[in-house]
Amino acid sequence: MDQLTSIASQRAWSRARRAAGERISFVPTMGALHEGHLSLVRRARQDAKRVVVSIYVNPTQFDNPEDLSAYPVTLAADLALLEKEGVDAVFLPTTSEMYPNGYCTFVEVVGPLTDKMCAIARPGHFRGVATVVTKLFTIVEPDSAVFGQKDLQQVLIISRMTGDLALPVEVLVSPTLRDPDGLAMSSRNRRLNPEMRAKALSLPFGLEQANRAFKQGERTAVKLEELLYNELLVHPGVDVDYATIVELPGFNEPEFANDQCILAAAVFVDGVRLIDHIHLGGQSLTVAQA
Ligand code: AMP
Repeated sequence: MDQLTSIASQRAWSRARRAAGERISFVPTMGALHEGHLSLVRRARQDAKRVVVSIYVNPTQFDNPEDLSAYPVTLAADLALLEKEGVDAVFLPTTSEMYPNGYCTFVEVVGPLTDKMCAIARPGHFRGVATVVTKLFTIVEPDSAVFGQKDLQQVLIISRMTGDLALPVEVLVSPTLRDPDGLAMSSRNRRLNPEMRAKALSLPFGLEQANRAFKQGERTAVKLEELLYNELLVHPGVDVDYATIVELPGFNEPEFANDQCILAAAVFVDGVRLIDHIHLGGQSLTVAQA
């Protein structure tokens, strides 16, 4: 597995593979890898002969410096996992490489995708994501890139951006991986002690309660959202950032839900921010306990 730290070396690596007629699939990550990330690597492997993974904790997507400094870093373990998966190259840029002195260029997606949900509580977050992904695409020059459905708003924004800018990259979406207790895997879960984790389970549990009610005929969006709030707010230390029903693909907030809708939420569990969502009328979630 090649480890590349400069833009020039990653670009040369990718160009050599493409010149040999090999397809490249790319998985951008911020490290602290878990099975969810590895499932994206496997999806990339199905798509292309060569798989490139980047590990870079992108500072421009953190609106809160404490969140950035608390972000877990487990590089040696990450590299061992990627090696075992047969990844061909890992791109590990430094911040001076990605954002050299005087850097002042950003990519911003505007409109309904970036004026609600995570965009409200995390100003500048998606601008940072769009900017770093664009830059990574121009460095790695992949044929495809794989993103997790878990960060649904993010992947919708990236798809929009890739289409709008006619970037020659196919955006692939891979399903959310969950732990056996039902909690969506996340690098941030490392910060949950067992008591916090038990509280965090009220997120998938509440989503499933709303999904069940939807399947039984409830359509009023605020009532479905309330079912989730009711599960979350009984726990001391759990704060709700948002719990919102939006319709795909336009991202409007309907008064009455339909089967094109998702219920999405972000919560703080004793200060740790977690996100999750469910497609109303879709597959049920099995949650150990809430
Ligand atoms: P991150 O390192 O958190 O920026 O995530 C890197 C990629 O992994 C993103 O495309 C995420 O959506 C994806 N990802 C994170 N958690 C999961 C999960 N539980 N299941 C599937 N994909 C995930």
